[in-house]
Amino acid sequence: MGDYGAGFRNWGETRVNRAHPIRAGKNGLVSSPEDPPRLLLIEDEPKLVDMLSTLLVDEGYEVDTATDGQRGLHLGLTRRYDVVVLDRGLPAVEGLDLLIRLRSRGVTVPTLVLSALGNPADRVAGLDAGAEDYLAKPFDIDELLARLRALRRRHLDTARVLPLPGGALDLDTRQATMGSEAPVRLSERECALLATLAGRPSRVFTRTDLQVLVFDDAGQDVIETYVHYLRRKLGRGVVDTVRGRGYQLGRGK
Ligand code: CA
Repeated sequence: MGDYGAGFRNWGETRVNRAHPIRAGKNGLVSSPEDPPRLLLIEDEPKLVDMLSTLLVDEGYEVDTATDGQRGLHLGLTRRYDVVVLDRGLPAVEGLDLLIRLRSRGVTVPTLVLSALGNPADRVAGLDAGAEDYLAKPFDIDELLARLRALRRRHLDTARVLPLPGGALDLDTRQATMGSEAPVRLSERECALLATLAGRPSRVFTRTDLQVLVFDDAGQDVIETYVHYLRRKLGRGVVDTVRGRGYQLGRGK
């Protein structure tokens, strides 16, 4: 069975005692029960693949597995995942090469690297290749699950907050915080307009762009009204008017 002894000993107990499985939405990890987090497991050891995929499915993940680096790379590039568990020692394409190739193609999915090599230099190599976390074999199953939860939570936290000039926009609460001032709650439309601009801060959006992206059922004059609302709530510098072209995220006051 290899060296995952601690994990196996805890395994049955872990499942029985887990009062709030991930699929119940604990920690806000899952937006709805219909939408389980998708996990890609890339590992070449069959017994470990079986054990981990059973356990991860039981935790509420929808799991795809790949047992060599080539297949793992293909899945990572062609499907969308919420988290990846990646073994370092893989046939065809080595784990860290695979990760570097995913990152160079713009795939930012949070990734935990598993490795039989656990020395500090090895961990650094994993993090340098673009891993968010690194776990040495033999590992404890509970620790792996906890790290995966933390990884997804961190990722969701960052993904749901957009930077503003001198502040931040929280898409879940629709609150914009500018400097040290109290958070300001935005209407749904105000938030959508600001999030669109803040999602691509270097782009100038024409009125037509914004009408299509944000105000699909209204005329273009409504855009100016909402820009005015945002400036009144968050300061003039939050949105810049680019004369003759449209609007862009501001550069602050
Ligand atoms: Ca391996």
